[in-house]
Amino acid sequence: MSELRFDQVTVRYGVGRHAMTAVDTVDLTVPSGQVVGLVGESGSGKSTLARAAVGLTEPSAGQILLNGKPLKYRTGQRRPLQMVFQDPYSSLDPRMTIGSTIAEALSGFPGNRAEEVVRLLGLVGLEAERARSYPGALSGGQRQRVAIARALAGRPDVIIADEITSALDVSIQGSVLNLVRSLQRELQLSMLFISHNLAVVRYMSDLIAVMYLGRIVEFGPAEQILGDPQHTYTQELLAAVPRRSQ
Ligand code: ADP
Ligand code: MG
Repeated sequence: MSELRFDQVTVRYGVGRHAMTAVDTVDLTVPSGQVVGLVGESGSGKSTLARAAVGLTEPSAGQILLNGKPLKYRTGQRRPLQMVFQDPYSSLDPRMTIGSTIAEALSGFPGNRAEEVVRLLGLVGLEAERARSYPGALSGGQRQRVAIARALAGRPDVIIADEITSALDVSIQGSVLNLVRSLQRELQLSMLFISHNLAVVRYMSDLIAVMYLGRIVEFGPAEQILGDPQHTYTQELLAAVPRRSQ
């Protein structure tokens, strides 16, 4: 159980005249065991914030804290934050079997690694035989399940999911979302769930943060944000989402 907190985080790209602020003094907390949905249009800075959390991008200012302590990334150590990316086609090494891809993420695992790989495959709804397949033999949805298994192999406290169903067929998006939501509950993971799609965020989140031009313009319990949006931009996002049929 872990709390992730962004404290006045700013990320700038470029220098001089070409500098731009992608993330602008963001304060955001992902409470322990909860899902914070981060929604905003393309280019609003969502992925930049995610990349900063997992150490792929250095904040220009501010800090990112896990249980109140600034995050430090050292190679060879267990990473308490794991990220699942949008594109399951480029996030898996095509030359590695699914089994070795997952086993690689089991650094420091004390038990039987082959058995653990099978357990992780089972967790994400894939059969044990899949361990011998290469990514090329898998559908987009199956690849994304492997990416989720690999993230879980690192025994994370926090998962950052960045547009994880955006590249998938609409017909299989629901089953991947269901899987992630049930794993999150079962494993009591804290999760930052990012999507440009408010309908998807609504389905997944306990709390919702709305990002606009690098800033969090609205944050609160999902039902409050959806039921009584305060910011014009949130109202526009909501107006664009089809109503729930029941
Ligand atoms: P989102 O995930 O919400 O679509 P991003 O975080 O990807 O937004 O991008 C935020 C802004 O930062 C955009 O204007 C984008 O063009 C810019 N940006 C993203 N990555 C880079 C980069 N590596 N170098 C320069 N600009 C970038
Ligand atoms: Mg993005």
